[in-house]
Amino acid sequence: NAPIAQADPEIAALLDAELRRQQEGLEMIASENFVTRAVLQAQGSVLTNKYAEGYPGHRYYGGCEVVDQVETIARNRARSLYGADYANVQPHSGAQANAAVYQALIKPGDTVLGLALDHGGHLTHGTKMNFSGKFYNAESYGVNPETFRIDPDIIREKAKEVHPQLIIGGWSAYPRIEDFKAMKEIADEVGAKFWVDMAHFAGLVAAGLHPSPVPYADVVSSTAHKTLGGPRSGFILAKEEYAKKLNSAVFPGQQGGPLMHVIAAKAVAFGVAAKPEFKDRMQRTLDGAKILAERLQAEDVKAQGISLLTGGTDVHLVMVDLRNSEMDGKQGEDLLAQCGITVNRNTVPFDPRPASVASGIRIGTAALASRGFGEPQYREIADVIGTALAAGKAADVEALHARVTKLAQEFPLYPGLDQTH
Ligand code: PLP
Repeated sequence: NAPIAQADPEIAALLDAELRRQQEGLEMIASENFVTRAVLQAQGSVLTNKYAEGYPGHRYYGGCEVVDQVETIARNRARSLYGADYANVQPHSGAQANAAVYQALIKPGDTVLGLALDHGGHLTHGTKMNFSGKFYNAESYGVNPETFRIDPDIIREKAKEVHPQLIIGGWSAYPRIEDFKAMKEIADEVGAKFWVDMAHFAGLVAAGLHPSPVPYADVVSSTAHKTLGGPRSGFILAKEEYAKKLNSAVFPGQQGGPLMHVIAAKAVAFGVAAKPEFKDRMQRTLDGAKILAERLQAEDVKAQGISLLTGGTDVHLVMVDLRNSEMDGKQGEDLLAQCGITVNRNTVPFDPRPASVASGIRIGTAALASRGFGEPQYREIADVIGTALAAGKAADVEALHARVTKLAQEFPLYPGLDQTH
């Protein structure tokens, strides 16, 4: 029972190396965040030892009296945070939450209609190589080719053509707010259920800074680890009428024993998200994305044929459009990595380049808000990114990296933590 430094120095050294990587660089992958120390502790706790198949009060294992309380608290906090009738906090991940939603709402072979992957949708929204595209008849809608926005008229037209049993809202790479009310009306018009996967914007919804899909959707799924800043995992909210079906779709439908340590960490994260400080953090996230959008549309960047999809953002990310630029997404990602900033390349709608290089970069501001960034720091990092993209191969990477390091030092991640064990 020695601590990890002695029991497994090889892995211990890598944990420390990753801690340093996170502390020294600046994280701008839109789907990532930093959990609080309390979430880290809950997730690294003895609850990992416990089997608890079933639900609180109805388990298939003994010794569940403590974890029952943990799961009940997590469920109640999720319900109260989002004003939902029902919450299931057992899904191990966003993809598994989504698999359970399909299983609960429709039958294999039924038709589903979601946002296309290359227009910002997620793999689990009906992509051919995913279970959702293999077991269901997956149809997709794209963004409006002129505005690059999700357009209810386009969804309605497609829904009338393909008659889906399920319409999917939510996205992985899209910088605007969808009209949930209009989407629900379309679902009603064609007799479909309406499901929203709010994985990306769950934190913004919790803070009241993004419209909530909960009043409109039959079911809402989410991850806990993006803007919400919880442990890597999923959860599901729904109207009471779907409770039984969703419970059995998660367990025993998709999963065995729940990860009770992760459920404890989710409870902690839901608790954090209900506090006024969280709202402040989400506001800084949104402000940071707007600052970034403004800088990336300045003349020096524009001169390189670089623009932003939809000309701005309402959420925690911007989508850089490189279709008219010499630089591709891979080159942009690598250039920013050399400056100490982690982002990911992404296809953009109507992308002429293959997905392996892509013509977009997705840049998010949530993780830096968790690090404490406010307006002055977002202005500085936005200028570093703008200057780098405008200069391309000629960028003074060393000077830009020095500016990133200064910000990272002024806003330390996990101050006082220099080892993971
Ligand atoms: N749903 C959306 C909209 C996502 O963006 C993601 C992750 O990128 C997922 C689901 C899947 O979550 P996970 O990676 O936890 O399976």
